[in-house]
Amino acid sequence: MSQSPTKQVEVVNISRIIGKLQGKEPGPTLIFFGGIHGNEPSGVKALEHVFREIKEKGIETKGTVYGIRGNIPALLQEKRFLRSDLNRMWTQKGIDQIKNKHNGDRNDEERELAEIYRLLKDILENQPPPFYFIDYHTTSSETLPFITINDAMINRKFAKRFPVPVILGIEEYLEGPLLSYINEKGYVTIGFESGQHFTEEAEINSIAFTWLSMMQTGTLVPHPEIEKAAFCEQLRLSAQGNRNFYEVIHRHKITSEDNFEMIVGAQSFDSITKGTQFARHNGEVIEAENDAILFMPLYQDQGEEGFFLIRKIPRWALRFSAFLRHIQFDNFLTMLPGINRVSERSEILMVDLKIARFFSKPFFHLLGYRERVVDKTHMALYNRERAAKNNMYRETSWYRNS
Ligand SMILES: [Zn+2]
Repeated sequence: MSQSPTKQVEVVNISRIIGKLQGKEPGPTLIFFGGIHGNEPSGVKALEHVFREIKEKGIETKGTVYGIRGNIPALLQEKRFLRSDLNRMWTQKGIDQIKNKHNGDRNDEERELAEIYRLLKDILENQPPPFYFIDYHTTSSETLPFITINDAMINRKFAKRFPVPVILGIEEYLEGPLLSYINEKGYVTIGFESGQHFTEEAEINSIAFTWLSMMQTGTLVPHPEIEKAAFCEQLRLSAQGNRNFYEVIHRHKITSEDNFEMIVGAQSFDSITKGTQFARHNGEVIEAENDAILFMPLYQDQGEEGFFLIRKIPRWALRFSAFLRHIQFDNFLTMLPGINRVSERSEILMVDLKIARFFSKPFFHLLGYRERVVDKTHMALYNRERAAKNNMYRETSWYRNS
């Protein structure tokens, strides 16, 4: 078994498209991604499973459903990535740089990005709205299954339909995830982290999530053997009944040269009390400054985040922020000195840092903004709500009944 001649054959056989379903009747366009990280094949396997079952049972669909393979060379080697992280490259600048390179000069992930980019463009230009994008991942630690979204109301409303916890705001800490790029165009985008890498449970959860997504988007024609209740129960049990919303409050950044390890046992969604020692970074022990909830601790070599900390968002805060966004409260803010809209892009507020210090970060979050410091004196706030294509989804059942 030392030399495996099959590997080369696999390279040519594995195609970008896991499956494509074109329904007889028109409907939305639903796009699933699996394996954007090569050591996270559960999503790919789940999609293969569902597409196979649809074919075998002759299940009918509406609209168009795609299953797309992410990082193919990394999937073959079961590595997160080979040269660069395919889920940290989707900035406009990064994409433009890759576009300007000849294919021969691109590294593995740059070639993957160029191909997926062309496919996305083709889908958005040639398929009808509304569009839904779902990206499957798994984590290196044990975890409850959970959803990550950029905090726009359309994403919240759609995410609420699944019986798993929802994490808001992780994109503020990450540069260039695929879903942030698509989300900035205003479409519904959902990240689903189904469990721990390579586990059966992660695959089963992704299968359940795929069926439920098809039901929620209306791309599945009801079939007696495909029962919604069973899939909901699978996710509900796996998530231990947790359907809370959380926000990310801290990211512990590491570099590839750093020595980082979790002190064994701490898993995603574990509560850690103030003073608990839970990780080591370059020999130094990290202890909790306050009570918090641990999120996505790193138990593998590759990755730029040692761990995140999250906190539960109370229900009243969720409702209050929905109200503030509904009345577009941010219009009042621009009456204040030092807060201006960028004229050509109404979704961006430029805030003088002298003014910004009177407002807390959670305040801007309530209004649907995420922040990026641009220079010594100003901060740019991006409003996810103004970019969101609410009208595209207004007639859907999940939007109307929420
Ligand atoms: Zn991942």
